[in-house]
Amino acid sequence: MSKLKVLNDLPENPEPEQGRFPSWLHRKMPKGGQLFKTGGIVKKYRLNTVCEEAKCPNRLHCFSHKTATFLALGEACTRNCGFCSIDFTKQPKPPESDEPVRIAASVQELGLKHVVITMVARDDLPDGGAAHLAEIIREVRAQNRDCAVEVLTSDFNGNQKAVDIVLEQRPDVFNHNIETVRALTPRVRHKATYDRTLLVLQQAKASGKAGLIKSGLMVGLGESEEEVFETLRDLKNAGCDIVTIGHYLQPDRRKLLVKAFITPEQFKRYEEEGYLLGIRQMYVGPFVRSSFNAHEVTLRSLSSGN
Ligand code: SF4
Repeated sequence: MSKLKVLNDLPENPEPEQGRFPSWLHRKMPKGGQLFKTGGIVKKYRLNTVCEEAKCPNRLHCFSHKTATFLALGEACTRNCGFCSIDFTKQPKPPESDEPVRIAASVQELGLKHVVITMVARDDLPDGGAAHLAEIIREVRAQNRDCAVEVLTSDFNGNQKAVDIVLEQRPDVFNHNIETVRALTPRVRHKATYDRTLLVLQQAKASGKAGLIKSGLMVGLGESEEEVFETLRDLKNAGCDIVTIGHYLQPDRRKLLVKAFITPEQFKRYEEEGYLLGIRQMYVGPFVRSSFNAHEVTLRSLSSGN
């Protein structure tokens, strides 16, 4: 169990104290051999996962349930967002031409029915890495006929042709995170813009080439309820079918501090607002991450389709 002390009986959305977490932000450690098996397969194919690189709090849970989110195009990112612990580099290595085959083989060995493939932002490449990501989708499908493919992309610096290259592969889910509310975007992800993200989502929706459009944000960074409601409205208007909301947790000391602990009741209000706005599937809770339980969330979304 975590060494952090548990706080109970806290007021609504309390401010955090150093090293002290409320009970709803504690997780039990899963046990079991599958955890090591998943890690072993990822290692065997020399792959990166966002689960490990971004220190996701769910990584033990997901690995023990035989799932992981592959991080394509390297383990270091050309951006240095305030919330993300993935290493920053100004000179990333060129994409590895055999990475698509290795990801596809790993998907097969894990027996995945739904794979999430994300990427570091590659602002050094003219297409932002779009052609490489498209090749990964092709290769995964070639080796895994029954596996749904979800891509969690960068904004490709607003390069619409690059977004199109990915959409041409008709991903089952096109996912691009807005991450936070409009006012906090410059602090949380200084090289992205709120409106550019909405444009990427709109483009994906308008193309009709992706099965479902998905986005997500973190709370606990100092946003107000009204700002989250506004973001949900913007995501609905951009064409999102699925929206995820999870609690921001500072991944290491260099990164932004948690500004407030968001209570389960507040999460519930966000979920209700999303449904009121007509978003098809809301997936909301302290440990929700964009790729968490992606298969189940997609199936639920399809069965509630309109
Ligand atoms: S929630 Fe996503 S990123 Fe986190 S461990 Fe699970 S699959 Fe990996």
